[in-house]
Amino acid sequence: MADVFQLEIVTPEKQVVSDTAEEVQIPGKKGYLGILPGHAPLITELAVGEIIYRKDGQPHYLAVAWGFAEVLPTKVTILAEAAERPEEIDVRRAQEARERAEERLKSQDPTTDYERALYALKRADVRLDVAGKKHP
Ligand code: ATP
Repeated sequence: MADVFQLEIVTPEKQVVSDTAEEVQIPGKKGYLGILPGHAPLITELAVGEIIYRKDGQPHYLAVAWGFAEVLPTKVTILAEAAERPEEIDVRRAQEARERAEERLKSQDPTTDYERALYALKRADVRLDVAGKKHP
């Protein structure tokens, strides 16, 4: 069996990754999924979280916000609403998004959509985390 699979990560804006990988971890709705070559076919919805894939033994990180993953034995395709590599992340923007979300969560305003603010906070936290994982 091949020791790598093809990994494609696409957003509405662009192709973010088109590469081979030995392993990928993806944030499924029910927790992280580890995929190796030859994995049984499946389709899963993605949560907000981190994608980590290994190529030539090196880890690569991406922040991802929702989407779907299709897993086939030789190919993993991820269609995400947003996906960024560490060097693409605007840290200041993520910090500002985080502060806005925190303010909303603290507010007593009855029109506040708390769930939306929680997801914005989660997206900002994941971006800040992944931004700190730039390749040396
Ligand atoms: P913001 O409030 O700053 O727009 P958001 O979490 O609402 O943040 P999303 O709706 O998740 O943003 O993403 C919208 C688009 O902006 C996507 O293309 C995403 O890749 C990009 N994006 C969002 N935040 C950042 C960031 N901090 N750095 C780089 N790109 C970002």
